[in-house]
Amino acid sequence: VVSAREPDCLFCRIVAGELPSTKVHEDELVFAIRDINPQASTHILLLPRDHIASADDLGADHGELLGRLFEVSARLAASEGIAADGYRVVTNIGRNGGQSVDHLHFHLLGGRRFTWPPG
Ligand code: AMP
Ligand code: ZN
Repeated sequence: VVSAREPDCLFCRIVAGELPSTKVHEDELVFAIRDINPQASTHILLLPRDHIASADDLGADHGELLGRLFEVSARLAASEGIAADGYRVVTNIGRNGGQSVDHLHFHLLGGRRFTWPPG
């Protein structure tokens, strides 16, 4: 399998091991790291290995990847000790959505209560 990657993409470079990160999980589809600027006591980013710009580019072909992303989120929430009290999984899309890195990622946040809707 040839993985799609963008040479100048920060998260493609992290997945490739060209830039340092605090890895907490990897499998053939998903790579998970600790966020460098955590917004909660647990703040993990789940990245597809392949370059996908955002959730706006997802479709029926990505079912396996999406299932894996949520499966890994749940497993990491359990191992982080945040599953029982609840947590948030969120993905930002585009500028108004608050996306700053244009490689799809899900934020796994836990360890405190989050307000809804987000600010
Ligand atoms: P978003 O704003 O939704 O695109 O999220 C991007 C996230 O990536 C932010 O929470 C940043 O703190 C985080 N981030 C940026 N650079 C790095 C890095 N080198 N390692 C880990 N997390 C990063
Ligand atoms: Zn990328």
